[in-house]
Amino acid sequence: QALASSGLLKNLNPEQYAAVTLGQEPALILAGAGSGKTRVLTTRIAWLMQTGQLTPGSVMAVTFTNKASKEMQTRLGAMLPVNVRGMWIGTFHGLCNRFLRAHWKLAGLPQGFQILDASDSVSAIKRVIKAMKLDEERFVPKQVSWFIAGAKEDAQRPGDIEPRDEQTKTLIEIYKAYEDQCQREGVIDFAELMLRSYELMRDNPAVRDHYQRRFSHILVDEFQDTNKLQYAWLKMFAPPGRGQGVMAVGDDDQSIYAFRGARVGNMADFEREYRVKKVIKLEQNYRSYSNILDSANELISRNSRRLGKTLRTDAGPGEPVRVYEAASDFAEAQWLIEEAQALHRAGIDRKEIAVLYRSNAQSRVIESALFNAGIPYRVYGGLRFFERAEVKHALSYLRLLENPNDDTSFLRVVNFPTRGIGARAIELLQDAARMSGRSLYQSVGAVAGKAGSNLQAFTGLIDSTRNLTQGHTLREIIEQILEISGLNEFYRNDKDGAERLENLGELINAAEAFVTQEGFGKDAVALPVDELSPGAISEGFPAAVAPANFTPDAETGEIMSPLAAFLTHASLEAGDNQAQAGQDAVQLMTVHSSKGLEFDAVFITGLEEGLFPHENSMSDSDGLEEERRLMYVAITRARQRLYLAFSQTRMLHGQTRYNVKSRFFDELPEHALKWLTPRNQGFGSGFAKEYQSAWERGSGLKSVVGAGRVEKPAYDTTPVPKSMKQAAAQKVADEHGGLKVGKGVFHTKFGEGVLLTLEGSGADARAQVNFGRHGMKWLALSVAKLTPID
Ligand code: ATP
Ligand code: MG
Repeated sequence: QALASSGLLKNLNPEQYAAVTLGQEPALILAGAGSGKTRVLTTRIAWLMQTGQLTPGSVMAVTFTNKASKEMQTRLGAMLPVNVRGMWIGTFHGLCNRFLRAHWKLAGLPQGFQILDASDSVSAIKRVIKAMKLDEERFVPKQVSWFIAGAKEDAQRPGDIEPRDEQTKTLIEIYKAYEDQCQREGVIDFAELMLRSYELMRDNPAVRDHYQRRFSHILVDEFQDTNKLQYAWLKMFAPPGRGQGVMAVGDDDQSIYAFRGARVGNMADFEREYRVKKVIKLEQNYRSYSNILDSANELISRNSRRLGKTLRTDAGPGEPVRVYEAASDFAEAQWLIEEAQALHRAGIDRKEIAVLYRSNAQSRVIESALFNAGIPYRVYGGLRFFERAEVKHALSYLRLLENPNDDTSFLRVVNFPTRGIGARAIELLQDAARMSGRSLYQSVGAVAGKAGSNLQAFTGLIDSTRNLTQGHTLREIIEQILEISGLNEFYRNDKDGAERLENLGELINAAEAFVTQEGFGKDAVALPVDELSPGAISEGFPAAVAPANFTPDAETGEIMSPLAAFLTHASLEAGDNQAQAGQDAVQLMTVHSSKGLEFDAVFITGLEEGLFPHENSMSDSDGLEEERRLMYVAITRARQRLYLAFSQTRMLHGQTRYNVKSRFFDELPEHALKWLTPRNQGFGSGFAKEYQSAWERGSGLKSVVGAGRVEKPAYDTTPVPKSMKQAAAQKVADEHGGLKVGKGVFHTKFGEGVLLTLEGSGADARAQVNFGRHGMKWLALSVAKLTPID
């Protein structure tokens, strides 16, 4: 055994070795950035297979992003001669999709179900709100979508939510109507992917038993960012005590998705519920030089409530962390391009250079500077290829070929390019559909007159294209629909259409690349239509919708046409397709999407108060700690060189902002930094002081804005609804009778103070108190005895 595996194991340190070769038992690895967690996880899979303890079919590995799962497949492929593509390695959403494709019937879904991305889902909700004749000001579609996603993440269906007040009652009704609409249209949103598969496992013992037997090993990376439903889902596949080898790997300091319901507490629950014998810790960092690591360690040490880890490196100090203050965002971009070019000249690949930013909106200036300098770059997330309007139009036509009952797609293109179908006709159509409970496609017959015949011409176009392209390759299908739909012509005639036409061409390239990569194509098996389950063909669903050529998954027998597979890919992997594949390009991404990755050189831009830390998160300690973890993630991506930049002014959404440098600069070790520009006074002096005290008063930037010092900032990130914070504070207040924000409290050691904030709940409840002479303190209410004073 040792012989066979010596190659795989020879570079591991003793702790890593122990983790890789652990027996089949539940294990939890808690370790800092760059300590080899992902490497251990990947090596363990390879080792288990190499030593004959595992077949490729009996392992499931969950990662957090598509990029990370690709990386794991690549690393695994490099270690072992197996076809990693057939293995269950992917993101939670990717694996759920796979699961539901295999069990669509049991899950109550149409075979060609399509996935709604976040913005599709909001527009679907908008339609529901409109149909219910509700006020969009009171029921803001985006907020309703949070409500619904939140409920789904708690595994709650409309019937499970307590209708405590009128508002909630209506929200539940919207949720219900939205569910019905999605079901009718054969579409599901991201949260539904998780919930559906969770419910299927929960309610179907045969399926559950099958998968529990099948997977002898389940491994989860980035476990600190799992939410409640994901953890529950995991327990369906590997319940505690069933004896499977479950390995969870995480770092509490890198938990950065609390705003999406991530629960660091899942780690402690895992340890307890799976009776983990000994938590494995890895303390050696293999990624970064010590100037970088010292910066990360020093910064994160400011956070309270940490599980506690150490992280050291044997690498020398390396280059200092370089800090640059720019006069404008434009200058910041210019500077970083010059630095990046210099690094490239010094021999660093472009793909080893990452530019990170806190908010997506920041990318545009950097992108245009890179573009003007002729430097290839690639953007992950943000303005995604698959989200560009013309691409979405094309995808909608393709979706209709797959599933004509997809009302979202129907509405998007029924009159694009224009074909004489006005708003009135659409309204009539929607009414007819609503009355009969059928899809728009199925209801076109109900609209009379000219509009009616135009609608029929539209559905005729879809049907005939579907017939015409039977048995064609994916490329041919897309080429045909681009012509037949009139999209190509429309953009050819549009004077600004050149770039959009290019994107449509790029869509064909993307499809081509996808087909090659997925192994569809010439040898794809073409089964006759009647071998399909008849259930796939529902009423009003033309028989021709059945895939003409498709490849069943060798293992699961899961069936999907190349087109369906490609559409799924487009929904799930949006953002991975901008740069030409294989081109050496500078990597642009938000800090959130950089998690788990590493680069030789990293630029963190926009380190300004209000931007990073983000102003939506600055007003409470939880938010600030999450921002600090985000910064920790950003810093620890760098192997050799780290650059930090901020700018005095910044244009965002057409407004100039005047900035103060981020407080994070004061939390980094001076010895590790090298200021390329003179270090200014920054946070804590002059204007910054005014700003800080405004912030501490709780009035934030706005009051300074009001004083005419700064223009109102406008970022496009999603604020946490105030009401949720208030509700949380109220809950703590209820638990700790008598405490009131803004009122006096007494503490045995610190004396009298003023209670500023209440948050958390139960054992986790916290209070922020200003004790005057003793300063501002955060107190755990389960420990600190606070008595209210009048
Ligand atoms: P993160 O928390 O950022 O996800 P991680 O703990 O998953 O980090 P890895 O990405 O697995 O860390 O490893 C970081 C780097 O260190 C990788 O380049 C990896 O190949 C390297 N590495 C890990 N262990 C060793 C080792 N024993 N010897 C040499 N290099 C190692
Ligand atoms: Mg990792």
